Amino acid sequence: MSLYIHVPFCSKKCHYCHFYVIPQNSSHHDLYFHSLKLEWERIEERLNGHKISSIYFGGGTPSLLPLNQLEQILSWCKASTAWPEKTFEITLEANPEDLTKEKLEAYQNLGINRLSMGVQCLDDALLETLGRQHDSKKAIDAVYLAREEGFENISIDLMYDLPGQSLQSWKHSIDQACLLPIKHLSLYNLTIEPHTAFYKKRVELQAKRPSDQDSLQMLEYAVEKLGEAELHRYEISAFAREGYISQHNSGYWTGRPFLGLGPSAFSYWEKKRYRNVAKLHAYARHLENEESPIDFSEELEEEASLRELLAIHLRLLEGVDLPAFEKRWGNLPLTIKQDIERLLKEAYMKQSEEKLQLSEQGLLYYDHVASELI
Ligand code: SF4
Repeated sequence: MSLYIHVPFCSKKCHYCHFYVIPQNSSHHDLYFHSLKLEWERIEERLNGHKISSIYFGGGTPSLLPLNQLEQILSWCKASTAWPEKTFEITLEANPEDLTKEKLEAYQNLGINRLSMGVQCLDDALLETLGRQHDSKKAIDAVYLAREEGFENISIDLMYDLPGQSLQSWKHSIDQACLLPIKHLSLYNLTIEPHTAFYKKRVELQAKRPSDQDSLQMLEYAVEKLGEAELHRYEISAFAREGYISQHNSGYWTGRPFLGLGPSAFSYWEKKRYRNVAKLHAYARHLENEESPIDFSEELEEEASLRELLAIHLRLLEGVDLPAFEKRWGNLPLTIKQDIERLLKEAYMKQSEEKLQLSEQGLLYYDHVASELI
C-alpha cells in the first residue's frame, strides 16, 4: 500500500491552478498538523497487515511544511507495523524557490529520497505568465543544489500548450531539461479550469495557445529528445532513466491501494474510492468532532471497476499482461473483450502474445481509448 499526504499551503496561487490551496501561515500550519494527527489516529489500524511501498507528500507545496511537522508525520509512519525494513520511495513535492541547503540536508536526514520539483518550463516570460514564484535560473540552481546535497532521485514537471509558448521556447525548455541531473520528468499540457485566474481571461489566452499541430510537435520533440537523453517514456506523460520509474505513481496505474491524508486527499482502499473534504477548517472540524472527514466515496460495480483498472493500467507503455491482470482482478466479461477487439481493429491498441498495449495512435488519443473503455 501507499500513503499520500496532502499539504494544502502555497505562498501564492498560480494563475492556472485549480487545486484547493490556502495561504501559508503558522495558524494554518498548526491547525493542519493537529488535524492530520487526528486523521492518522483514525486510519492507523487499517495499515495492520500491510507494508508501505511508497509515501508521497503532494500539494499544495509540501516544501512549505515546517521541518518539525514533517519529522513528526514521518515518525508516526515509522512507528506503524506497516513500515518496511527495506528502504522505499519517499517523495516530497517542492517548489524551486523554497529549497535551501539546510532544508535539503534535513530532508535527507528524514529519509526523504525523492524530490519532485514544479519547474513547469525554463522560459522566464512564461513562468511569469503562469504566476510562478521562480525563474528559470532558480529552477536550474535548485536542481543542482538538490543533487549536490545528495538527492539522486530528482523529478521535474514541465508544462506545454501554454499561452504564448512557441515551439522554439518549448524546445529550449526540453533541451535544458535534458542537461539537468534528473532521473524523472513528467509532462503536462495546460488545461484552463474554472475558478482560476486563467479562466477569467480564457478567450484571450486561448487565442495565444499553440495550434494543435504545434502542440503535437511539442510532444513529439519532447519524446524524441528525452529518449536520446536516456529519459525513456514509460507512461503517457512520464519519463525516467532506467531504474527510476516512480514507484508511487506506478501504484496508481496498477491499482495498488493507497490511503490519502489531509484536506482534499483521495484514497483507494478495498476497491472503494473516497476523498476528504477540501477545506481545511471543515476537515479540522470533522476530525475534532470525531467524525470522518470523507465527503465523497464510491464503489464501482465489478465490470466498471475492471474497465477503469484496465484503462488506467494501459497508460503504462509496457501495457497490460492480460492473464496476470485477470488473475489479479477477475476475468474480463465479453462486453469488455468486445471493446478491446474494436480498439484493436481501429488501431488504438496492439496486442502481442498476451500483452495489450496502446499503439502510437492510442498514445496520442488516450482520452478516446479511456472513454471507450470506461
Ligand atoms: S504551487 Fe502548485 S499547488 Fe500551489 S498554486 Fe501553484 S500550481 Fe497550485
